[in-house]
Formats: sequence, structure tokens, C-alpha cells
Amino acid sequence: MFKKILIANRGEIALRVVRACREMGIASVAVHSTADSDAMHVRMADEAVCIGPPPSNQSYLSVPALISACEITGAEAIHPGYGFLSENANFVQVVEDHDLTFIGPSAAHIRMMGDKITAKETMKALGVPCVPGSDGGVPDLATARTVAAEIGFPVIVKATAGGGGRGMKLAETAADLDIAFQTARSEAKSAFGNDEVYLEKYLGQPRHIEVQVFGDGKGGAIHLGERDCSLQRRHQKVLEEAPGPAIDEETRARIGKVCADAIAQIKYSGAGTIEFLFENGEFYFIEMNTRLQVEHPVTEAVFGVDLVREQIRVAAGLPLSVTQDELRVNGHAIEVRINAERLPDFAPCPGRISAYHAPGGLGVRMDSALYNGYSIPPYYDSLIAKLIVHGRDRPEALARLQRALGELIVDGIDTTVPLFSALLEEPDILTGNYDIHWLEEWLKTKRA
Ligand code: ADP
Repeated sequence: MFKKILIANRGEIALRVVRACREMGIASVAVHSTADSDAMHVRMADEAVCIGPPPSNQSYLSVPALISACEITGAEAIHPGYGFLSENANFVQVVEDHDLTFIGPSAAHIRMMGDKITAKETMKALGVPCVPGSDGGVPDLATARTVAAEIGFPVIVKATAGGGGRGMKLAETAADLDIAFQTARSEAKSAFGNDEVYLEKYLGQPRHIEVQVFGDGKGGAIHLGERDCSLQRRHQKVLEEAPGPAIDEETRARIGKVCADAIAQIKYSGAGTIEFLFENGEFYFIEMNTRLQVEHPVTEAVFGVDLVREQIRVAAGLPLSVTQDELRVNGHAIEVRINAERLPDFAPCPGRISAYHAPGGLGVRMDSALYNGYSIPPYYDSLIAKLIVHGRDRPEALARLQRALGELIVDGIDTTVPLFSALLEEPDILTGNYDIHWLEEWLKTKRA
């Protein structure tokens, strides 16, 4: 096992990894920009190294600074968290070239899934159901027209290199295709430096269901059920739950097995998430994320497995500590993402926290790097806390969420907490009756 791990991240996820390391008897090294000298992850880790100025591309994304920090501190492995360099195959290559271990999948697997067309072709060949669409990239408008006519409108034009909901354009009818195709391409070009796009059938009322998988890198793999992440704003997740309200045990076992078998066949190593749209009882693969997800705690809650611990074990060449047969869903968990944002327009709202009190009690987990007097720097993501509740069933989890939100105090800045209090009044949320468009529609009615 590793003696020392460097965490190439900040905020709550860096803290999350520090905690796993400490329980495993592994020393942790935090890295930070000059804007984060007083951050909680710096205080909680065993050691800390300043790696550069505030802008991410000069600090958290600086590969030479991270490698030097490993050399200075004697860290043997790097945990990337999510975001930043977590899905950067070139970074993985550099890490390995320096005889360090990347806690995550191989560069080849990251590359395979990072390109959405390759990912889709691979998954299709492995027996994973995909959204009907073009075979590969669509080079020009004429081809787009032919493909769209075959699959039928509405269609969505998506960037091969896409991420974060960018480079995606809907064409309701043939008349919209021209503009959708051109704008998706130019958006993709400017956001990702790659203007390749592909076409998919647009699903009208799907849920976003993702399956948590874990591979041991030697052809063994397990799944840890699904998460429903349909509540989204601008294609960004806002609330996640496990198990999915629309998924029964038989369906979970079936899609879980398809996913675990697929990653076993490619000898995938570490944590991964296979994302689907789910409509009329059918699953349609959209993409695979080759890292730990923001919303991993809901899975940890219902399965009682520490996913970061498993990531570290697999990276160290040890077997997974659980088998598929031992895994059972226990109760229900919900996570809400609390952002430093001002409602109703979700404008980023960094600043100084004048008072902070985290909720507690049975079934409440608060993953946050906040503390009294902390100043949230304006340079990074606006996520400041994840509140995760676990109950014996969904109604108990919902009641617990309401109770926990009531205990939480974050003074001095605006947060998205009022959004969740309002959502807990909605019958559709209480019954779990929502699809990926529900939140945007609801926000429109609130603004009107
Ligand atoms: P990104 O990597 O940019 O997040 P995804 O492919 O994961 O892109 O899609 C993000 C979101 O966009 C999905 O969760 C869903 O809300 C919507 N979406 C993507 N593909 C389709 C589709 N074929 N039909 C309907 N909605 C889609």
C-alpha cells in the first residue's frame, strides 16, 4: 500500500480524499494556489505545498508543479478528485513516466471514453444499449440531413469532445438543422478546439440514470447500482438520489450486469460511471465518466462502501474489498449541491462566511470545506457543500433533508439552499415524478 498520496484538487473533494487516506493510515499531501492558503483541505492534510497563483491553469492544472510537489514530498501516488486533471490522459502519461501512480484508470481508457464517438462505438460493441444516431462523426450538413431523416426528428447535434453540456444543439425539425449543426460546430471549436460533431435522436422525456461501476484492472468488475440525476439546470446536476425512483430491483440487476460485464471485458481499472438516458423502460448510453463523481456519496450511503478507499486499493494493485453478491441496496439517499450563487439567476456569489453551522444527526453527511470566517475565492467552482441524507426509505430521506436544511446556517453569502427548500414543497419531487426537463420548466414558472 502507498505510504503517501498527493491530492491534485481542492475544496470538499480534496477533504474527502484526505479523510479516506487517514482511515487507511496513508499520509496525505494537499496542494494549493496562493488564493487557497487558508483552505480547509490545506489545514486537514498532513502536508501542504503551494503550487502557484490563483488561476487554475497556473496551479491546479499545472502538471510540472504537481509532479515537483510529489518529488519534494515523496508522495508515491496522485488522487485527482473530479474536474481539473481527473480525465486528462496526457497527465496520466506524465505521472506514469515519473514512476508515480495515478489513482484512476489507464490513459488508454480515459482517451477511449473522452472521445464520445469512440466511447459510443466501444459501448455498442460491448452490448451496451446506445441512443440511435449517426455512425461516428458527421462531416457536413448534407450528411447531417441524411442521418436526421433516417433517425427522425427531433435530433440533437453533439460535440465529440463535448463536456459540461456545451456544444449541444437541438433541432426540432428539418428547418432547424442547418443552424443547429453550424452552431454546435462553432461552439465545439471554441470550447474544445475540435469541431467534430455527431447526431443523436433527441429523447423527449428521459430520466438521467447513471450506473456506478468499478473494475479491478484484471478483468474483474462490479456495479453499485444507479443514481438518478435528472434534476438538472443547464445540463448540470442539482440533486441526485439512489436508488432511482423509477428503477426496480430487476432493472437494476439487469443494467448493472450489462455495465459491469462491459468494463470487465476492457479490463477497466478503478471507479467509473456509465451514464444513460432512460425512457419508456429503455436505457440509452450517452457517456462514461472515468473518475469519481461529485454525487458518489449517495451510492456510498446505500451500499455502505467507501469508494475512495476502493479506488486507492485498486490503484495499489489490491483486489476490491467487496464482491457483487455482498452488495445490497440499503434504504434511500439524496444529495443536494449547495452552491455559492444568488437566486433566482444563479449568479456566482463568492465572499466571506460570517457564520457557518453544519447540520448533523442520524443519516446526515455534510461534505464541505467551509468554516466560520472562511472567504470563498472567486476563481473556482461555486460548489461549497454537498448535503447527503440517508433514510430507511425515500420519505424518510426527504424528511431528513428538510430537517437538515433547517439546521444549516451559511451567513454572509447567498446560496442555493432556498431552491431545495422550495423543491421539497413540490408534489412531483415528493413522489419522484420528474425527468431531465422538469427543473428548467419549474424555474420558468417561478420566474413568470
Ligand atoms: P456532457 O458531457 O456535455 O455533460 P452528455 O452527453 O452527458 O453531455 O449530456 C448531458 C445532458 O444533455 C444529459 O444529461 C441530457 O440532459 C441531455 N442530453 C444529451 N443527449 C441527449 C439526447 N439524445 N436526448 C435528449 N437529451 C439529451
